[in-house]
Amino acid sequence: MSTRFVRILGVMVISLCLGLVSAVPGAALAGPTGGAGIGDPYFPQDGNGGYQVGHYDLGIAYDHPSKRLAGTATLTARTTQRLTRFNLDLLLRASAVKVDGRAARFTQGARELTITPPRALAKGQRFTVTVTYAGVPSALSSRGEKAWFTTPTGGLAVGQPQVAAWWFPSNDHPSDPATFDIRVLVPRGTEAISNGTLVGTRPSGSKVLWHWKMTSRIATYLAFVAIGDYTIEQGTAGGYRYLYALDKALPAKVAANARKSLRTTPRVTAFLARRWGPYPYSSIGGVVPAVTFDFALENATRPVYDPGFFERGASSGIVVHEMAHQWFGDEVAVKRWKHIWLNEGYATYSEWLWSQARGGTSTQAHFNRVYRNYEASNPFWKTRIGDPGPSKIFDDAVYDRGAMTLHVLRKRIGDRAFHRLSTRWYRDNPDGLGSTREYIDLAEKITGRNLDPLFRQWLFSARKPTSTR
Ligand SMILES: [Zn+2]
Repeated sequence: MSTRFVRILGVMVISLCLGLVSAVPGAALAGPTGGAGIGDPYFPQDGNGGYQVGHYDLGIAYDHPSKRLAGTATLTARTTQRLTRFNLDLLLRASAVKVDGRAARFTQGARELTITPPRALAKGQRFTVTVTYAGVPSALSSRGEKAWFTTPTGGLAVGQPQVAAWWFPSNDHPSDPATFDIRVLVPRGTEAISNGTLVGTRPSGSKVLWHWKMTSRIATYLAFVAIGDYTIEQGTAGGYRYLYALDKALPAKVAANARKSLRTTPRVTAFLARRWGPYPYSSIGGVVPAVTFDFALENATRPVYDPGFFERGASSGIVVHEMAHQWFGDEVAVKRWKHIWLNEGYATYSEWLWSQARGGTSTQAHFNRVYRNYEASNPFWKTRIGDPGPSKIFDDAVYDRGAMTLHVLRKRIGDRAFHRLSTRWYRDNPDGLGSTREYIDLAEKITGRNLDPLFRQWLFSARKPTSTR
């Protein structure tokens, strides 16, 4: 994510008080339950315990005039323990739930959908859960945030760390990535853009069904949908299949700048592939909707950019940032949110490398500028970026000091070892998840050196490092 062109995240929100809804009244069964959170201390309610999702099959329809979304989601999952009850994260209202094709009881709070399968699920059992649901996602907020935005001709789901609950039920945490089929029914003439490959569009009465497929596992926050009147540009460049989508309601100048910026994506991807190794997915692209949400997000294969990034001119830096996340953040995801410097550090450092490669500011000059810019007393140095706290995961310090940490590390261990470390970090990761400890261990394994003091100083100290080597 990048929020640095403007920081207004304090969105005006209407707090919705949602009561408990029970479709089939009945006492909760005694027995093992999955738990309402996956165990991330930053966001205890995010994700759920007791199972892992392998695949999401989503079918949604969006009605722009009423702003209503209706959906049916089938999740294929496997239990990690015996379960008599389990949760999904969902803000929209569920009307029916089936487990393995049989009707299941459920209750729903503001964010948690608690499901009682007709029969207890054994440990290690594969199962499907199908949820039928609907609501007006733009009217919903959670933790003071919104993640569904209404555009002049449609809607947009984009957000981090949360977004899925606004448009589909999920195990909403990056530590449970899955593959996706995303089908979106929209009026004829309206586009529906999402992740991965466009399998096809099929007419259905006065409507059209768009079918997208993401065959690599991705975190739930990296799935997105943009619905509305878009100009789509697609083809192949530099060996990459690309798809850019620009909202037709964008002002002409912004659209021209955005188009120019998105068209750098193949070149940027090739540059990053030379740095970090082969691009992890089968397609690239970008989406610019006509709505202000104040950030850009690294949605897998197709980042979504706030048009504000392109108001003053074209920008390849923001494209570099979001495309670098395809390796760092998307292909290897954070195990817990406190490790986010690994995502933002690499994305920011990629911007520095891009600038240097184009004859602009060198990585060392970037480092020096940030180092000199903030005096020792500045709060910038107070954040322990290796564990910044839930309110500071998008703090400037996480981005800039993350990049500084990588720069110091690269100088210490040399270009070749740094390249090997960075490549192995996302590629040889058995579960596609990473933590700071695992990163340090890999760096020490590759170099045979004790790097703890370096990381302690740069990630876990609340003081400006005195040594920049
Ligand atoms: Zn970022």
